[in-house]
Amino acid sequence: MGKSTIINQLMPGLQLKTKQVSGWSGKGLHTTTFAEMFDLPNGGRLIDTPGVREFGIVDIPKAELSHYFLEMQEYIPQCQFNNCLHLDEPGCAVKAAVEAGDIDLDRYVSYATILATINENDYD
Ligand SMILES: [Zn+2]
Repeated sequence: MGKSTIINQLMPGLQLKTKQVSGWSGKGLHTTTFAEMFDLPNGGRLIDTPGVREFGIVDIPKAELSHYFLEMQEYIPQCQFNNCLHLDEPGCAVKAAVEAGDIDLDRYVSYATILATINENDYD
Protein backbone atom coordinates (compact mmCIF):
# COMPACT_ATOMS: atom_id res chain seq x y z
CA MET A 1 0.00 0.00 0.00
CA GLY A 2 1.41 3.31 -1.01
CA LYS A 3 2.03 6.19 1.32
CA SER A 4 -0.54 8.45 -0.29
CA THR A 5 -3.10 5.64 -0.17
CA ILE A 6 -2.61 5.41 3.59
CA ILE A 7 -2.82 9.15 3.93
CA ASN A 8 -5.99 9.31 1.90
CA GLN A 9 -7.54 6.62 4.08
CA LEU A 10 -6.57 8.50 7.21
CA MET A 11 -7.95 11.71 5.78
CA PRO A 12 -10.73 10.96 3.29
CA GLY A 13 -11.28 14.62 2.50
CA LEU A 14 -7.73 15.25 1.50
CA GLN A 15 -7.26 13.14 -1.64
CA LEU A 16 -3.59 13.58 -2.44
CA LYS A 17 -2.96 14.01 -6.09
CA THR A 18 -2.30 10.60 -7.55
CA LYS A 19 -0.80 10.36 -10.97
CA GLN A 20 -2.19 7.52 -13.02
CA VAL A 21 0.35 5.69 -15.14
CA SER A 22 -1.35 3.65 -17.80
CA GLY A 23 0.11 0.29 -18.72
CA TRP A 24 2.09 -0.02 -15.51
CA SER A 25 0.47 -2.52 -13.13
CA GLY A 26 -2.69 -0.41 -13.05
CA LYS A 27 -1.64 1.34 -9.88
CA GLY A 28 -1.53 5.06 -9.45
CA LEU A 29 1.92 6.41 -8.98
CA HIS A 30 2.02 9.17 -6.40
CA THR A 31 4.63 11.78 -7.01
CA THR A 32 5.30 14.05 -4.09
CA THR A 33 7.20 17.12 -5.10
CA PHE A 34 6.89 19.19 -1.93
CA ALA A 35 6.91 18.42 1.74
CA GLU A 36 3.48 19.02 3.16
CA MET A 37 1.99 18.96 6.61
CA PHE A 38 -1.56 17.93 7.34
CA ASP A 39 -3.75 18.07 10.42
CA LEU A 40 -5.26 14.67 11.11
CA PRO A 41 -8.91 14.43 12.19
CA ASN A 42 -7.92 12.89 15.53
CA GLY A 43 -5.72 15.81 16.39
CA GLY A 44 -2.41 14.40 15.22
CA ARG A 45 -0.31 15.85 12.49
CA LEU A 46 1.40 14.31 9.58
CA ILE A 47 4.30 15.48 7.48
CA ASP A 48 4.57 14.07 4.00
CA THR A 49 8.01 14.61 2.55
CA PRO A 50 9.54 13.47 -0.70
CA GLY A 51 12.35 11.07 -0.09
CA VAL A 52 11.13 10.02 3.33
CA ARG A 53 9.62 6.56 3.19
CA GLU A 54 8.04 6.64 6.58
CA PHE A 55 5.52 9.24 7.44
CA GLY A 56 4.72 10.76 10.75
CA ILE A 57 6.15 13.52 12.81
CA VAL A 58 9.73 13.85 11.74
CA ASP A 59 12.34 15.57 13.85
CA ILE A 60 13.25 18.79 12.16
CA PRO A 61 15.07 21.87 13.43
CA LYS A 62 12.88 24.77 14.51
CA ALA A 63 14.36 26.98 11.82
CA GLU A 64 13.21 24.56 9.11
CA LEU A 65 9.68 23.86 10.32
CA SER A 66 8.10 26.76 8.45
CA HIS A 67 9.51 25.39 5.20
CA TYR A 68 7.07 22.49 5.54
CA PHE A 69 4.11 24.85 5.37
CA LEU A 70 3.72 25.52 1.68
CA GLU A 71 1.67 28.66 2.13
CA MET A 72 4.40 30.22 4.29
CA GLN A 73 7.21 29.62 1.85
CA GLU A 74 6.67 32.71 -0.27
CA TYR A 75 6.70 34.95 2.80
CA ILE A 76 9.72 33.53 4.61
CA PRO A 77 12.32 35.33 2.47
CA GLN A 78 10.58 38.62 3.29
CA CYS A 79 11.11 38.27 7.04
CA GLN A 80 13.48 40.83 8.50
CA PHE A 81 15.66 38.16 10.09
CA ASN A 82 16.80 35.11 8.18
CA ASN A 83 16.56 33.00 11.33
CA CYS A 84 13.01 34.21 12.00
CA LEU A 85 10.79 31.66 13.74
CA HIS A 86 7.69 33.74 12.93
CA LEU A 87 6.57 34.10 16.54
CA ASP A 88 7.43 37.45 18.11
CA GLU A 89 10.20 38.67 15.84
CA PRO A 90 9.89 42.22 14.43
CA GLY A 91 9.43 42.50 10.69
CA CYS A 92 8.00 39.00 10.32
CA ALA A 93 6.34 38.64 6.93
CA VAL A 94 4.64 35.37 7.91
CA LYS A 95 2.84 36.91 10.88
CA ALA A 96 1.88 39.88 8.72
CA ALA A 97 0.39 37.48 6.17
CA VAL A 98 -1.55 35.69 8.91
CA GLU A 99 -2.91 39.00 10.17
CA ALA A 100 -3.82 39.99 6.61
CA GLY A 101 -5.69 36.71 6.15
CA ASP A 102 -3.33 35.46 3.46
CA ILE A 103 -2.24 32.53 5.62
CA ASP A 104 -4.91 30.50 7.39
CA LEU A 105 -4.86 31.16 11.10
CA ASP A 106 -5.43 27.49 11.91
CA ARG A 107 -2.36 26.57 9.94
CA TYR A 108 -0.29 29.19 11.73
CA VAL A 109 -1.53 27.89 15.08
CA SER A 110 -0.52 24.37 13.97
CA TYR A 111 2.88 25.71 13.07
CA ALA A 112 3.33 27.45 16.42
CA THR A 113 2.08 24.38 18.29
CA ILE A 114 4.51 22.05 16.56
CA LEU A 115 7.30 24.56 16.96
CA ALA A 116 6.74 24.53 20.71
CA THR A 117 7.18 20.76 20.80
CA ILE A 118 10.59 20.85 19.15
CA ASN A 119 13.48 20.53 21.53
CA GLU A 120 16.37 22.51 20.12
CA ASN A 121 18.82 20.59 22.29
CA ASP A 122 18.35 17.62 20.00
CA TYR A 123 20.15 19.47 17.23
CA ASP A 124 23.32 20.64 18.90
ZN1 LIG B 1 9.02 35.45 10.17
